[in-house]
Amino acid sequence: MTEKKTGITRRNFLKTVAAGAVGVAAAGVLGGCSSSGAAGGTPAAGGGAAPSVSETQETDIVVVGGGSSGLCAAVQAAQLGAGVILLEANSVIGGNGQLTEGMFAIGSSLQRASGVGLDLTFREVVAVEQEFFNYRVNALFWKDLVENSADNLEWLIENGVQFSGVVDNYYGLGKIPAFHWFVDGSGRNYIGPMAAKAEELGVQILLKTPGDDLIQDETGKVAGIYAKKEDGTLMQINCKAVILASGGYANNMEMMEARGYDMTYTINQGNPHHNGDGLRMATKAGGADVSLQRCFLREPYAYGTNFFGDMSQAIQRGGPLLWVNQDAERYCNEDCGAFTPGNNSNAVHTQQKSFLIFDRPWLENLAQTVENLVQDVEDAVAECPGENIYKADTIEELATLAGLDPAALAATLARYNTLCAQGLDEDFNKPAEKMVALTTGPYYIFRQDLSFWTSIGGIHTNRRMEVIDLAGSRVPGLYAAGTDGCELYRETYTMNVPASCNGNNCNSGRVAAKNAVAEFVQA
Ligand SMILES: Cc1cc2nc3c(=O)[nH]c(=O)nc-3n(C[C@H](O)[C@H](O)[C@H](O)COP(=O)(O)OP(=O)(O)OC[C@H]3O[C@@H](n4cnc5c(N)ncnc54)[C@H](O)[C@@H]3O)c2cc1C
Repeated sequence: MTEKKTGITRRNFLKTVAAGAVGVAAAGVLGGCSSSGAAGGTPAAGGGAAPSVSETQETDIVVVGGGSSGLCAAVQAAQLGAGVILLEANSVIGGNGQLTEGMFAIGSSLQRASGVGLDLTFREVVAVEQEFFNYRVNALFWKDLVENSADNLEWLIENGVQFSGVVDNYYGLGKIPAFHWFVDGSGRNYIGPMAAKAEELGVQILLKTPGDDLIQDETGKVAGIYAKKEDGTLMQINCKAVILASGGYANNMEMMEARGYDMTYTINQGNPHHNGDGLRMATKAGGADVSLQRCFLREPYAYGTNFFGDMSQAIQRGGPLLWVNQDAERYCNEDCGAFTPGNNSNAVHTQQKSFLIFDRPWLENLAQTVENLVQDVEDAVAECPGENIYKADTIEELATLAGLDPAALAATLARYNTLCAQGLDEDFNKPAEKMVALTTGPYYIFRQDLSFWTSIGGIHTNRRMEVIDLAGSRVPGLYAAGTDGCELYRETYTMNVPASCNGNNCNSGRVAAKNAVAEFVQA
């Protein structure tokens, strides 16, 4: 299939970043590990026989995951004088943090320097996000994030993170100008400097060494962790606290299916190794799994097509197309993702199946601004990679090819065209300018499958980032940061306050580290 040739879209840019993802070599960071060569470990969380271990280490804090949040936790803890081991499952550091573009803050020096967003306060944030989430989120988490955000940004700058100086509202999607762009819009300029700072501070970064099972003492306090070494043996690390920052579970098919997703035609647009290890370990240790009340960063796409290509970006954003479900019924305002892209996937997910439909004139019109679009669509039809993309001269033939009822689809199209002609969407209230009749064959149909990027939230925490059960009782010595534990969102990934997710990654990592260190210093 032909991919994008010219122009920079957000998605293509992300793809480029992913291809050149920064790596921190394992060599050099493993040298400081002390090994006892112990043969038997301590029983893991939940009891059972002690596993055999090939090595035992001692440290103050273990951070599980070296992405956006884990690096902040590790650097912060080391700056407070703690010994830190950072476990990273992947062969490179950075996780999905490498793919991010920027970070939320208000009251930052970059806003003062650029004169953007100078008057922003917590009031603007709480006004949009409390309404957006129907008051189902604890606004105190947002308050903490906002109040710490300027300090977090200055701290990142001090530690070498490279911001471009541009602050805006992220392509007009955000309701406030608080998106601080990294240089080149690349998370490499966040991850790289933070990994270097961690090494400089003596953090042991163990690549290809996933945290696997927590160790709890007789009181239930987390006292260590088992990690899987590359040679297949287990390392036991005894410590005073563990900070889970493993980036969620969106790569774990079983966990996704257990939460009701049919994964047959989905893809994951994030980096690998987000297997839900943090959530699994936290719940085994007694923490609450609140993942069903949390959300994903996800968007519709057509199975087998290039999600980052111009074709996908042009047709999957909704707007002036027709969406129908498995019964060939129109079911929503197709422009629902205009300001909150997550609404597109939310809407698609309300149906058993969803299809987008357009006609040749609409395609040719759009092709005036999207290079190679007609050819890309024709290639997709020819390839039909998942019995999902068809073209036909009549709407009835199109329905038959896609497995829909021809008469039902013809009736739906007739109704839609009537509404377009009158310029008023009496059914789903789509704006008049997006009501474009589809009248001239050939017609095209794409099934809308879901592309998941990352899960956001799942481990229940309090404001100190301590892992808790549903009654609020903590699992002593256990913390969660970043998308493992995010309490800011509910069912939809919000962009009202742009890059709040990364703002939380930094904030929750630092808060977890400060509280973990303070706890054992006081003890
Ligand atoms: C493509 C993309 C773009 C995004 N852009 C933005 C943006 O611009 N702004 C924004 O605010 N948010 C953005 N997000 C959302 C969010 O901020 C990122 O997903 C961010 O990387 C989350 O940080 P994290 O630390 O929770 O996870 P990650 O950064 O993914 O880090 C988790 C790390 O844990 C490792 N790991 C997993 N299991 C284990 C284990 N058992 N042991 C050891 N290590 C383990 C993983 O390999 C990974 O390196 C984006 C997300 C994606 C997917």
